[in-house]
Amino acid sequence: MMKSIASSKYLACLVGSIIFNLLFIINIYVGGQWKLSWSLGAAIEAETVAAIYCSGHGRAYLDGLVVGDKPVCDCNTCFTGPDCSHFIPHCTANADGLESVEELLRDLSMHSYSGDPLFLEPFWMQHLAGSALVVAGWHQMSYTYGGNSFFSKELAKVVRKVHASVGNAVTQNRFIIFGAGSTQVLSAAVFALSPENTSSPAKVVTSVPYYPVDKQQTQYFSSQKFKYEGDAYRWKNRSDCSSTNMIEIVTSPNNPDGQLKKAIFHGPNVKTIYDHAYYWPHFTPIPAPSDEDVMVFTLSKLTGHAGTRLGWAVIKDETVFNRMMIHMRMNSMGVSKDAQLRAFKLLNAVLEEGTGIFDFAYQTMKSRWERLVQTVSLSNRFSLQENNPQYCTFYNKVRQLSPAYAWLKCEREEDKDCYAVLEAANIIGRQGNLFGAENGYVRLSLVRTQDDFDILIERLHKLITEEDGDKTM
Ligand code: PMP
Repeated sequence: MMKSIASSKYLACLVGSIIFNLLFIINIYVGGQWKLSWSLGAAIEAETVAAIYCSGHGRAYLDGLVVGDKPVCDCNTCFTGPDCSHFIPHCTANADGLESVEELLRDLSMHSYSGDPLFLEPFWMQHLAGSALVVAGWHQMSYTYGGNSFFSKELAKVVRKVHASVGNAVTQNRFIIFGAGSTQVLSAAVFALSPENTSSPAKVVTSVPYYPVDKQQTQYFSSQKFKYEGDAYRWKNRSDCSSTNMIEIVTSPNNPDGQLKKAIFHGPNVKTIYDHAYYWPHFTPIPAPSDEDVMVFTLSKLTGHAGTRLGWAVIKDETVFNRMMIHMRMNSMGVSKDAQLRAFKLLNAVLEEGTGIFDFAYQTMKSRWERLVQTVSLSNRFSLQENNPQYCTFYNKVRQLSPAYAWLKCEREEDKDCYAVLEAANIIGRQGNLFGAENGYVRLSLVRTQDDFDILIERLHKLITEEDGDKTM
C-alpha cells in the first residue's frame, strides 16, 4: 500500500515536471526562434562595450579601463585621447616582449607592454558571432569535470582536430594535458622528466640563442631534481654527459630567431621537450607532423589569446603524462575551467573557418616580413636572420619562414650595443644577451598591433636612411 502511494506520488511529480518543462520550452521557443531570457542582458552589455568607438587604435573592455562606471577606450601604444584618435608624434616604437623576471617587475607599473600576438585581433573582429561566449553564473563550478578530471575531454578532442587539420603534430594514441599557458606546461614537463630519488640533479639545457623564460623558470624552480646548466652546445662533447641525466628544451621554431631547431642531445639519459609554440603556418612552413615524446603548444600563438593562459602538451609516454598530472594538481589544482571553455569555443571557431585563421595570420606575417626585409635591405648597418624556404605540407608549396620575431644584427664593429643603437632611434627591442647571445643582436617583436608594426617600420626607415650621414659625421 505504502509502496503504491509512493510510486503514484513519484508519477505525479514526473508528469508535473514534464509539463512544466514543456511549457518552459514553448514559452522561450517561439516561431522557430529562441526567445532569450537570462542571457539577453549579458549580450546587450557585451555588444554595448564592443560598440565603443576607439578610432581603430584601441579597444574598450568591460573589465578594462573604466571611468566613473563606464568602460572607456584603452589605446594602442602611441595613441591617446577619448577615442584614441590622437597620435603621439615622438613616441617610442615598442617591439619588445615581456619575458624576464626583472622586466616583469619593471613592467608591472606599465600601461601597455609585451609581444602579445595582437596581430590576430582583426581576425577575431571579423568573426564575432562564431567566437562569442555566454557563461551562466552556475556554469562548471566544480573543480573537476565529472568528478575525476581537471581537464575537459571535449577540449582535448578539439585540440586533436586542430592538429589533424593543420598536420603539425601526431596526436593519435597520445596523451594531452593542459596548463596555465605553455609556461606552466613547460615547467610541469621539466619536473616530470627529472629523475626521482637522485643525488645528482638533471641538467636542463637550451641552445643559444634560447627562449629566456626556459632559463629563468628553471633557475627559479631549481630543486634537487633539476638544475639549469646553460647553453646545450657547451655540454655537447663532454664525456661526463653520457652518464648524466639531461633535459633539453628545444624551441622550434625558435624564439628569438624563428629557426626550426632540432635536438642536440640524444641517448638513453636524454629527455627532450619540444616547445612548438610557433609551429603553426602563421610563422613557419610545416614540413611534417611533429612526433616527439613531449610537444608543447599554446593558445597564445595559435589564436592570439595570450591572456586566456591556456597551453597544452602532447605526450607519448603514460608515466610522463601521469607525472605531469601530479604536478598540475600540486601546482595549481588543475587549470581554470573558464580558460578551457574559452579555448574550446575559440578552437571550434578556428575549425569552422577552415584555413581562415591560418591564411589571415600567414598573409599578415608575410606582408610584415616583406616590409621589414625591404627596409633593412637598404642598410649596411643592420642584417636579419637567414630565411631558407622549405616545403610546407599545409600550403602544398615551398615557402619562407615568417617568424614572430626579427633577430636583428648590428654589423658595425662600433655598434656592440645594438639595443642602445635602436633605443637612440626610439625603438625598444630586446637585448641579445637575454637570449644567451651577444649584444650585437636585438630581437624585435613583429606580432604586436598593426600600429606598433607601422611605427616600428617608420622609425627603422628613418634610422636607416640617416645611416650614411651618421658615418660621415
Ligand atoms: N614558448 C615560447 C617559445 C614563447 O615565445 C612563449 C611566449 N612568449 C611561450 C612559450 C609562453 O607562452 P604562454 O605561456 O602564453 O603559453
